[in-house]
Amino acid sequence: MSKCILQPIVKRMVLLLVTVSILLPAVSPVQASAPAVSDITQTVLPLAAGTKYETKAFIYESKINGPAVLVVGGVHGNEPAGSLAAEAIQKNVSVSLLKGTLIVVPRANNLALNRRVRTLPEITDINRAYPGRPDGNPAERIAFAISSLMKKYNVSMVIDLHEGRTFHYYDKTSVGQTVIHGFDDKSSLLALECVELINQQLPEKHRKFTFLSSPVEGSTAYYASTVLDIPAFTLETSVKQPLEDRVHQHVTITRFLLASEGLISEQ
Ligand SMILES: [Zn+2]
Repeated sequence: MSKCILQPIVKRMVLLLVTVSILLPAVSPVQASAPAVSDITQTVLPLAAGTKYETKAFIYESKINGPAVLVVGGVHGNEPAGSLAAEAIQKNVSVSLLKGTLIVVPRANNLALNRRVRTLPEITDINRAYPGRPDGNPAERIAFAISSLMKKYNVSMVIDLHEGRTFHYYDKTSVGQTVIHGFDDKSSLLALECVELINQQLPEKHRKFTFLSSPVEGSTAYYASTVLDIPAFTLETSVKQPLEDRVHQHVTITRFLLASEGLISEQ
């Protein structure tokens, strides 16, 4: 594009910006409370680096000190809502983090997600592999990488997003529509509040969430609760609902928990 064409366009843009800035108040309430993107540092860490099971951890650190929270999705490849919700949380929180650190591993079992299966025989189950081993099978390596992140960043809460095969309301052997909390009092109280919050949006009885205690041994939440002694949650939606609803439920509960730690605002 030549200068003689560009210059009038630039002049019009400058005029437009000046006009808009005059029309806007100096500092709106939203601008005053939202953190500047430059105040948040993003780091991307490869987990199980160099293997075909490699996946990414996204770390958002505010310049304002605060707790660190870990959100994990995609541990099981046939539970896509948890992974999509973790990605949605990650994109949103990257510009709305008020303080502290948010760590998101949205696609823990990347290969299984790509193939839409729970896991692959060569990988085994990440959610039974904690604390993992640096030189173990792929599930143990990924679990070790995630548990190392928890320790490195001294996380104060862990949220692991999953899905159940049906509704717990109809079939007590399924964990669909439950918040499974860790062994401490804070986890159980927060789980109760999560359930009350989300159930306001779910009029049908079978879709309402209930809370369960005791995450399964070897799982992300079990490790966080028993070894690190921090609040930990396994959130389980039912795959019998539309994907959009499941993602929304995961995002709503996770945002509530992040707000309870002060990382984001409560709205
Ligand atoms: Zn699962």
